Amino acid sequence: MGLNAEWMQRDLAVLWHPCTQMKDHERLPLVPIRRGEGVWLEDFEGKRYLDAVSSWWVNVFGHANPRINQRIKDQVDQLEHVILAGFSHQPVIELSERLVAMTPAGLERVFYADNGSSCIEVALKMSHHYWLNVGKPEKKRFVTLSNSYHGETVAAMSVGDVALFTDTYKALLLDTLKVPSPDCYHRPEGVSWEDHSRLMFSHMEQTLAEHHREIAAVIVEPLIQGAGGMRMYHPVYLKLLREACDRYGVHLIHDEIAVGFGRTGTMFACEQAGITPDFLCLSKALTGGYLPLAACLTTDRIYQAFYDDYSTLRAFLHSHSYTGNPLACAAALATLDIFESNRVIENNRRLAARMAQATAHLINHPQVAEVRQTGMVLAIEMVQDKASKTPYPWQERRGLKVFEHALSRGALLRPLGSVVYFLPPYVITEEQIDFLAEVASEGIDIATRDGVSVPLGGRYPGFRDPG
Ligand SMILES: *Cc1c(COP(=O)(O)O)cnc(C)c1O
Repeated sequence: MGLNAEWMQRDLAVLWHPCTQMKDHERLPLVPIRRGEGVWLEDFEGKRYLDAVSSWWVNVFGHANPRINQRIKDQVDQLEHVILAGFSHQPVIELSERLVAMTPAGLERVFYADNGSSCIEVALKMSHHYWLNVGKPEKKRFVTLSNSYHGETVAAMSVGDVALFTDTYKALLLDTLKVPSPDCYHRPEGVSWEDHSRLMFSHMEQTLAEHHREIAAVIVEPLIQGAGGMRMYHPVYLKLLREACDRYGVHLIHDEIAVGFGRTGTMFACEQAGITPDFLCLSKALTGGYLPLAACLTTDRIYQAFYDDYSTLRAFLHSHSYTGNPLACAAALATLDIFESNRVIENNRRLAARMAQATAHLINHPQVAEVRQTGMVLAIEMVQDKASKTPYPWQERRGLKVFEHALSRGALLRPLGSVVYFLPPYVITEEQIDFLAEVASEGIDIATRDGVSVPLGGRYPGFRDPG
C-alpha cells in the first residue's frame, strides 16, 4: 500500500469530513497533504496540486509564506492566547487600528469572532440588539437575497438561501424576508450588468417599503454570491441599497467574508460602490489563510447605543473563547504588511487580465453558458443547453468530473455544482494561470461529454507533474 492510501485508510476510520457525503470516498480517493509551499500542495507520495481555490477561499499569499510563518513564530514565544474580556494585547490592538484605518470611513469599532459564521451571528445579534436599545423592539426581521450564503450556524443559515445547505434544516430557521438576487447570469439578452442590477433593485425597494418597520437589517454578499455559484452583480445595486437603507431606517450588513481582501479587484467590495455599510464582516483571507479569525466592524453610532451603565443591561454580552486570538491577529498583521509592501491590488490586475485571456475561448464551448469575472474570481458555468441556459441535473455531478480530472493533472479545482471557478492565491504566476485554464478546458470537455464518466481505476491515471 502506498503512503497516500495508508493515510487515507487511517483518516477514513476516524474522521467525518466537512461538506462531504462520506460514502463518496469508497470510490473517490481522499488526498492527504504532507506539506504546502506557495500555490502548491504536496501529498505523501510527492505529487503536487496547484491550489486554484485558495483552500476554500482563505489563502492569499501562498502556503508556508515565510513572512507570515515568522510572525506567528515570534508571537507564539511571546503570548499564545489571553482572555479578551478585561484583558487585551498588542496584536489585537494593532490589528483593530489598521482595520479601522483601511476600511471605509465610519467603521470605527471592531468586534472579533473566530470564524465567518459566528461573525454573521454577531452582526445579526448586534443589529437586532441596537434596535432594542433605541426602543424599536419590533425591528427583528432580516432581509436576504435569493441564492445567498452566509455560513453554517443556524441564524447564518437562516439568512442564506442555497437549498443544498439549508433545506434540510428549514424547521430550525428564523423567518426572513427573501428578495430576488440581482445575479446578472439571469439578465435578459442585450441588457448590461448595470441595467440588470438597477432593475432588480425594484424588488428590494418594494420589500423595504412594505416591511421596514419590522426590519432590522438587510444582509448581502457584495458583488459576488460565492457558495451560490460565484454569481455576480454590479456595484450600482449596493449604492441603491445603501440609499434605501438610510431612507427606511434599516441597517446594511456587508458579508465580505469571501470577497474582502482583494478578491473583487479592490481591497473591499464596498469601495466599488463608494459606500459604508453599518456592519462589515471579515474573515477567511484576514489571516492570510492561516488561522481562524473574524472581525465585525461597525459604526460609532451603533456602538454608542450599547454604551451605558451596566444595570441598564444594554451591553453586548456575546463572547467566543478564542476571541481575538493573538496568533491569529499576528498572522493577520503579517498579511496586511504584505498587502501594503507588495502593491498587491495593482499587481492582481495583471493576473486578472491573464485569467480572462486564458479562458476567453471557453465562451465558444457548446456546453458553456457564461464565463464571468469580477477581479480575481473567474467562473465558468457548464449547462445542458446553452441557448436556454438549462442546467445539468444536479444528480449528474458534472463538476465532480472536472474535480477528478484536475486532480489527475495536478490541480485542485473544486467546482460548485456545474460552476468551475478560479479563486487563486495572489502569488500565482501567469504561466500557472495558463496551466489552470488548460486543465479546466480539458475537464469541461470530459465532464460535458454525454454519458461519459471519468474512469477511476487505480490512483489518478495519467498524472503528470506540471512542475
Ligand atoms: C465562508 C463564508 C461564510 C462562513 O465563514 P466560515 O468561517 O466558513 O464559518 C460566511 N459568508 C460567506 C460569504 C462565506 O463565503
